[in-house]
Amino acid sequence: MRLIRLASQMAAVAGHLSRRGRRVGLVPTMGALHEGHGSLIRRAAAENDIVIVTIFVNPLQFGPREDFARYPRTLRRDLALASASGADIVFAPSVSELYPPGFQTAVRAGSLAARWEGKTRPGHFNGVATVVMILFALTRPSRAYFGQKDYQQVLIVKRLVRDLKLPPAVRMLPTVRQPDGVAMSSRNASLTSSQRAHATVLSRALRLARARIRAGERRAAPILRAMRRLIRGTADARIDYVALVDAATLEPQARLHGRVAILVAVWVGRTRLIDNLLVEVS
Ligand code: AMP
Repeated sequence: MRLIRLASQMAAVAGHLSRRGRRVGLVPTMGALHEGHGSLIRRAAAENDIVIVTIFVNPLQFGPREDFARYPRTLRRDLALASASGADIVFAPSVSELYPPGFQTAVRAGSLAARWEGKTRPGHFNGVATVVMILFALTRPSRAYFGQKDYQQVLIVKRLVRDLKLPPAVRMLPTVRQPDGVAMSSRNASLTSSQRAHATVLSRALRLARARIRAGERRAAPILRAMRRLIRGTADARIDYVALVDAATLEPQARLHGRVAILVAVWVGRTRLIDNLLVEVS
């Protein structure tokens, strides 16, 4: 496995691979890799000739009061996990490599970015869209792999690809969970052991909602009330949002129908966690 630090070198390697007709699978990450990333890398390895994992903690997608400086950086361990999962190249540029002095152009995400993560984190998805555009330009992937864990992000990246006529196919893979249901996340490392125990409330709230829907409930309001009650009863937990939305538009539904996304964002202590489930409502 090869580690590339320079954008110019990444572009040269990608150009070479493309001329030789190699299919490249791209897995963009912010590092602190875990099995969620591992599953994306393994799938990319199964479906492509070459897998490029990018590791870049993107300052553009962090707000001024967010955890950019605090975000875990564990490159050495990441290289071992990427390699063991089947990566051929890790591209880990510095901030000034992707955003050199004079950098001033950005991609603006549209209305899909207005609610939920985009509302709590203004500018976040513009930062995501901009860095994804740059990573696509530098790595020239045939396919790009994203986790359902960040469901709104996947929709926005798919829209970016469609709107700007970009080549890669965007693949969404299921959320990888720990045995107690907690979605794997680099941010789980910031939880104390009691907070980590309380973090199960996100997936419990999601499963509660799914069970109510499967039992026939079609009104969003009582389901949302039950989810909020459950989360409010948990020490250290503070709700940012819980929502039942159309899975394609992310607009809230009062009466559930079609493909529904159940979304939760909860502060556990100083750490903000998100999770979601998709359900088909007939
Ligand atoms: P991150 O490094 O957190 O920006 O995530 C990089 C990619 O891995 C994104 O596409 C995430 O959605 C995905 N990802 C993060 N956590 C998980 C998980 N638990 N299961 C599946 N994919 C994940």
